[in-house]
Amino acid sequence: MTIQWYPGHMGKAHKEISELVGKIDVIIEILDARLPASSSNILLTKLRRNKPCIKVLNKNDLADPAVTRSWVRTFEKRTGVCALPLSAKQHPEVKQLIRLCQRLAPHRGKPGKPLRAMVVGIPNVGKSTLINTLAGKSMAKVGDKPAITSCAQQIDLRNGIILSDTPGLLWPDMSDQVAAYRLATSGAIGVNALDYTTVGHFAAGFMLHRYPELLRSRYQLADLPESAITLLEEIGRRLGCKAAGGVIDLHRTAEAFLRELRAGKLGRVSFEEPAQEPEEAGTEVTEAVEVGERGKPPVTDTERRAVVDAA
Ligand code: GDP
Repeated sequence: MTIQWYPGHMGKAHKEISELVGKIDVIIEILDARLPASSSNILLTKLRRNKPCIKVLNKNDLADPAVTRSWVRTFEKRTGVCALPLSAKQHPEVKQLIRLCQRLAPHRGKPGKPLRAMVVGIPNVGKSTLINTLAGKSMAKVGDKPAITSCAQQIDLRNGIILSDTPGLLWPDMSDQVAAYRLATSGAIGVNALDYTTVGHFAAGFMLHRYPELLRSRYQLADLPESAITLLEEIGRRLGCKAAGGVIDLHRTAEAFLRELRAGKLGRVSFEEPAQEPEEAGTEVTEAVEVGERGKPPVTDTERRAVVDAA
């Protein structure tokens, strides 16, 4: 099944971001820490020109810490780019972002010279949550004075930083179906665009290959099944997802499995890793629909290299 999903108004958003970038000192790009490449937008490299960029690896509470560390190392090799894993709901973590902005634009953030930052990212990565955390704390600090200024579409964080209040909306590369399946697995794609059973099949295949121990412990599976479809049936049995006649309802199972996976019930999971160095990369791109079989890599990241390199 081909996943098609367009958040809408993409061309307009692209143009608006491009115009705003000239007035911005630091770009805060929000990525999903579980899939930093698939949740990125390659056009941002062009749009940001040479502006400093902080790649926030959000939802870090759900991602595999070792994989996130390797993403940070990968991103920080790029000029003008810093990477910061955090959870947008956690104010102490979000505070690091302020310090990083100040470090990246040391000439700004002074009286009469505010540091202007803009949050950008694809839908559902946590842009609004992050802006609320940043603005909310500031509001609490100033007591009776509103922190959100009436000055057009900007939030004065009252620490020398002015944030554009509407996040820049980017969109993922949906022509890359592996990325689309990863996005669907993470919950970034609207339910209307996907078929739960197919996405559940993809996710089961990935987990079987990459995190078998998490499956074993969550679903009390002494022996792991060989294929994704058998695994889904097994999970359905354990979760009581039965249809009439006692057969396993695969749609309900996939829905329940994805819900658990996205909520971190199986543990901290990352859906992709940075591209391997050329000498290590040996596998070809695997079709998304083939990912169900155990032992097969669900996807390789060779195809992602261009995206990551460009970011
Ligand atoms: P936006 O579309 O980019 O503005 O995304 P939202 O801010 O609306 O967040 C999308 C979903 O992700 C919401 O359900 C948030 O509660 C959730 N979310 C945002 N940040 C985090 C985070 O750091 N950790 C977790 N676990 N969930 C988060």
